[in-house]
Amino acid sequence: MDTDLRSLTMEELKLFLKSLPQGRPEFSRTTAPADGGPSSRPTDKPPLACSSGSLLEFRAAQIFEWLHKHCAGSFDDMTNLPKVLREELKKVASIPKIKTSKKLQSSNKDAIKYLFETDKATIIESVWMKYSYGSAVCVSTQAGCRMGCVFCASSASFSGSLPAGDICAQVYAIQRDLNERVSRVVFMGCGEPLDNYDNFLAALRCLNSKQGQNIGQRNMTVSTCGLVPKIYALAGEGLQVTLAVSLHAPNDQLRQRLMPIARKYTVTEVLRACKYYGDKTKRRVTIEYALIKDVNDSRECARELAGKLRGAMFHVNLIPFNRVNVERGSTIAKDFLPADKESAENFTHILRNSGIPATLRRGLGEDVDAACGQLRSY
Ligand code: SAH
Repeated sequence: MDTDLRSLTMEELKLFLKSLPQGRPEFSRTTAPADGGPSSRPTDKPPLACSSGSLLEFRAAQIFEWLHKHCAGSFDDMTNLPKVLREELKKVASIPKIKTSKKLQSSNKDAIKYLFETDKATIIESVWMKYSYGSAVCVSTQAGCRMGCVFCASSASFSGSLPAGDICAQVYAIQRDLNERVSRVVFMGCGEPLDNYDNFLAALRCLNSKQGQNIGQRNMTVSTCGLVPKIYALAGEGLQVTLAVSLHAPNDQLRQRLMPIARKYTVTEVLRACKYYGDKTKRRVTIEYALIKDVNDSRECARELAGKLRGAMFHVNLIPFNRVNVERGSTIAKDFLPADKESAENFTHILRNSGIPATLRRGLGEDVDAACGQLRSY
């Protein structure tokens, strides 16, 4: 099977090039690196070129730049590679494409929802969001989701995890379409990023790479429903990305009604993992909490939550609950309504008065089904 080159990190790309037939003169025949790599003359001394040293690094960097900086769609675009290398790559590798199949702009123009279609006919949803400080893209990591949160439209179906290249390509396609640089990426679209851990991580590394878009780790946020072992794993990756954890309830009993994952990991275990992540990375962890009328928006819930969050570096993001039309999933959430303004404000005040930083977020893109929880795979 062809190797999907856009899904490889720089290190993986080097290994891939190394695995190509060794010592071929064609890899060494053209432009050698300025730092005195192998000569430009074919030689009978094996192995050469991509097999080791600076030329391999040089070629990997060229290819990576084509894929992640210039967002090339074909090997023929890679005009500074020797033609023979391009031909070789065509035989063993591919560059999967995504094409825009729908684009919907919210009425106040602060959000655009994109539907992309992959070569394999998978539909991917992404959202571009305008903020005062720039723009962010919310990317999907899976087509659908298998976590089953009752209030989330993404739970309605699952048709697979996305390769890293398709995760990155969402950002590139939107940048190209809007002709602007995206300064922030949030892994908060369809799917559970930590349920697609390796691909999500590879995408993050590619987006962060200086040879790619160079999007700062601190400008990226990953949101998880709370896969505890994976939070510990992420804490060990030596990254500076913001972790956001969807809690939505202050205790196990209520959380288990809303999120099946709560039957696997308790609130205490989730918060312990968050604290570990915060201590390890020195980054403030965000706790996400969608306020649902008469379900989790009471003063008691706020006080209980405040009690559990005290003493750690947490910030609570209070998300306005977005009504979703879940057809195939659970019917429990059908009647869920957003908390009214007064209880949302009370909730916020209780947290703040207990010393917990809390933000009541504005809704974005609800009219085009681009808001939290409204993404699904068609
Ligand atoms: N799987 C990840 C990313 C999911 S979507 C996670 O669970 O965090 C991003 C956020 O939207 C999560 O906090 C999710 O719980 C929240 N969300 C899902 N459905 C929602 C809805 N109907 N209204 C408001 N927020 C919702």
